[in-house]
Amino acid sequence: LLAEYEAERALSAKTLDGTDVTLLMNAGLTADLASLDATGAEGIGLFRTEFQFMVASTLPKVEEQTRIYSAALDAARERPVVFRTLDIGGDKQVPFLPRDEEENPAMGWRAIRVALDRPALLRYQLRALLYAAAGRTLHVMFPMIAEVAEFRACRKILQKEIERLEGLGKEPPGRVYVGCMLEVPSLAWQLDALLKEVDFLSIGTNDLMQFFFACDRSSPRLAGRYDLLAPSVLTFLRGVVASCNAANVPVTLCGEMGGRPLEAMALVGLGLRRISTSPTSIGPVKRMIRTLNLDELRVFLDARLDSTDHSIRDSLVHFARDHGI
Ligand code: PEP
Ligand code: MG
Repeated sequence: LLAEYEAERALSAKTLDGTDVTLLMNAGLTADLASLDATGAEGIGLFRTEFQFMVASTLPKVEEQTRIYSAALDAARERPVVFRTLDIGGDKQVPFLPRDEEENPAMGWRAIRVALDRPALLRYQLRALLYAAAGRTLHVMFPMIAEVAEFRACRKILQKEIERLEGLGKEPPGRVYVGCMLEVPSLAWQLDALLKEVDFLSIGTNDLMQFFFACDRSSPRLAGRYDLLAPSVLTFLRGVVASCNAANVPVTLCGEMGGRPLEAMALVGLGLRRISTSPTSIGPVKRMIRTLNLDELRVFLDARLDSTDHSIRDSLVHFARDHGI
């Protein structure tokens, strides 16, 4: 799949009417890093740090974590790498951290909820990230934040680790940017307060949409029941993106949704300018963007966001066909 798009690797993701879209890559293991140059991605928009923990038989030590994060920064060279702190629990279990059975693990003790209850895990991980980024730029974000207070608590732990590093006289990162995932709907109702405190935001539609529709992301029976191009979704996301733009906070969408050309087209149409997706999706999404007339799409979408049926998907398919996308 990558080969088909090889010739377009160095081309920019610019619409026909001149709007730039930043395409980033999702990664999680050292093996993924080669795809960065192969796809021409502008950086890693989501580095899922839990993968290293999921494939290990014992808890990875600070030095081992540092090695992986360093390798990611090395591979990216000047490009940004957004490290997401551990999202363990839910659909991502690790054998060496025993846990209680839960009725609803996706809504259970996972991600930042584990980290805030067991801060040592998070502290060691942040320590490894700070070591790896010595003299470089560090982007770090926290998963499953449900309210601003949780973000603040995480940021405080990071601040303590930065102070510890300074106390030891070790070289700090050149810059540290701190952000969070928007994947729990409640956070969207504290967005204005949050945007005053974060350096960037990343929309995780895989979780966000499972909670938005109360629809288990891993249930095959439910796959396809709710449409990610429903007006409710698009109106909601349009509001989030508009708030971020108004506050001048960079916002990226890093869920699977952004890797599907039709969905990505709708997202760009409603104002999104940064997408992080799997390596194999970058070529198809870039090709869509390069054939897109954004002004026409905007008018087309605006006229349809009030509909209450599933017709937007069909309409967008027609729009794409009519425009040779
Ligand atoms: C998401 O929820 O959209 C996301 C990117 O995180 P993950 O798929 O790792 O839960
Ligand atoms: Mg998620």
